Amino acid sequence: GRFTSQSARQTFIQFFTEQHEHRPVPSAPVRPRGDPSLLFVNAGMNQFKPILLGCADPRSEMASYRRVVNSQKCVRAGGKHNDLEDVGRDVYHHTFFEMLGNWSFGDYFKVEACSMAWRLLTEVYEIPAERLYVSYFSGDAASGLPADEETRHIWLSLGVHPDHVLPFGMRDNFWEMGETGPCGPCTEIHYDHVGNRNAAALVNADNPDVVEIWNLVFMQHNREADGGLQALPQVSVDTGMGLERLLTVLQNKRSNYDTDLFTPLLSAIHQHSKAPPYRGRTGQADGGRVDMAYRVVADHIRTLCVCIADGVYPGMTGPELVLRRILRRAVRFSTEVLQAPEGMLASLVPTVTHILIMELINVNEAQFLSSLKQGRRVINRTLSKMNRDSVEFPASVAWSLHQNLGFPLDLIDLMLEEHNMTVNKDGLEQLAAENKKLQSQTEGGAGERGLHMDLQSLAELQSRGVPYTNDSLKYDYSL
Ligand code: ATP
Ligand code: MG
Ligand code: MG
Ligand code: MG
Repeated sequence: GRFTSQSARQTFIQFFTEQHEHRPVPSAPVRPRGDPSLLFVNAGMNQFKPILLGCADPRSEMASYRRVVNSQKCVRAGGKHNDLEDVGRDVYHHTFFEMLGNWSFGDYFKVEACSMAWRLLTEVYEIPAERLYVSYFSGDAASGLPADEETRHIWLSLGVHPDHVLPFGMRDNFWEMGETGPCGPCTEIHYDHVGNRNAAALVNADNPDVVEIWNLVFMQHNREADGGLQALPQVSVDTGMGLERLLTVLQNKRSNYDTDLFTPLLSAIHQHSKAPPYRGRTGQADGGRVDMAYRVVADHIRTLCVCIADGVYPGMTGPELVLRRILRRAVRFSTEVLQAPEGMLASLVPTVTHILIMELINVNEAQFLSSLKQGRRVINRTLSKMNRDSVEFPASVAWSLHQNLGFPLDLIDLMLEEHNMTVNKDGLEQLAAENKKLQSQTEGGAGERGLHMDLQSLAELQSRGVPYTNDSLKYDYSL
C-alpha cells in the first residue's frame, strides 16, 4: 500500500481542512475533563459534548465551531464501550486506538457527511467500492424511533449497490456515548477483507473477514439519566474511523497488528523475550496462545505509554485502577507466556515512542526543511540588499515568509536577532489586519455552495428523471 500510518492520518486531516473547510482541532488528553460519566475518552466527540448539548460557554473558542476535524486518542477499557476482553483475542479491538473524525455542528448533515466519507474512502484512499458495505438504522418501535430511510436513499444515490446497504437495529446503528449523553442513529461503513460472496451476512457478526471501519453518527438526542430521549437543540454530524483498522485496509493486511503501527513493536517483543517470532495465529491452540500474548503486550504497552504521558498513572481508583489492571495483564502475559525477563515492558517504551512520536517529528521536519532553506535564501538576499545601518527588516518579506513558506513569526524574529535586526512591527500588523479583512470578506461566499443540495432537491432531481449518480454529486462538489 502507498499509505503509512503517518500519511493515512495526515491525508484524513487534509481532506477535511483543505477540501471541506474543517478546522483542525488537537486531540484531547485521554483523561476526560469535567465529565464524571466517563472513565477515559472513548470517542472523538467527547470533547465536543458541550456543543452537541448546546451548552458550550458562548465566550469559548468552541462555541464558534461549525466544522472540525481531528485525530483523537481513545481508550476503551471500562465503561459503556469496554473492549478489554476482546483485546488480543481478535485482531481489530485495542484498548488504545486513534479515532479520526469530522464534525458538523448545526452545519452540513446526512447527504454531505455520507458523500464526503464515500469520496475520501473510494477516491482518495482508493478503496474499491465493491469491498465496502454500509449499514443504516432500521428503527426501534420500543423507543419510538423511525427507520433512517433517508440515509439508505443517500447511499443508493451515491452509487452503492443495493445489496451492500443493510439495516441494523439499536445495538449496531444507534450510537450512544455512555449511560447518558448525546446519541443518535448512525450509518457505518464496513470493509470486506476477502471478497466474500456472503460478505453481507458477515457485517456486524464479529467476523474478522468483514470489519467495521467508520461510523457516521447523526446526533439528534440526549439520553437522560431516567433513560428517556430528549431532542438536542440542533442536529450534528459526529464521525469516527479507527486509524488502525483503516491502515489494515490500506496496507492490504488482515490484522491491525500487521501494520506499521504494530510490527516494530512485535519485533521488539520478540527480541526482548524468549518467545518464538509472532505468526498472527488466533484461537487457544498452543501457537495461538503465544500470538495472543504478543498482541496483548503490544496493545497494553501503547495504552500504558499514552495514559502515563497524559497524567493517568496506575493506581487504585477510576481510570488509574483500570490502568493498573492493564499493566498487570501485560506483566502476566509477558512473563508467563512469552518468557520475557523482568523489565521487558519498560524496554518497549522507546519503540512506542518511535512509532507514535518520533515519526511524527520526522515527517514534520521533512515538511519544513525545504521551506527553511528557501526562506534562509530569501532572508540572506534581503539582508545583502539592505542599507548597512538599517535595523528594520521589511515587513512585506517577513509576511511572505510567514504566509508562503509557513515560517512562524516568532521564528523570523529569532533568525533576525542573530543579525541584530527586528521586523518592522507596524508594517507587519498592518499586513496581518489587511489579510484578516480579506478573509472575512471571502468567508461565507466561496466554499461549499455545492454541498447544500439537500435531500428534497435529490428527490426532485430523481422525480424529473435526472439520472442521479455518484457523478452528479462529484460534479456538485467541484462547484
Ligand atoms: P465494533 O463494533 O467493532 O466494536 P464500535 O461500533 O464499538 O466498533 P464505534 O463506537 O462506532 O465502534 O467507533 C467508531 C470507530 O472506531 C469504529 O468504526 C472503529 O473503526 C473504531 N474502533 C472502535 N472501537 C475500537 C477498538 N476497540 N479498537 C480499535 N478501533 C476501534
Ligand atoms: Mg465496540
Ligand atoms: Mg459496531
Ligand atoms: Mg460502530
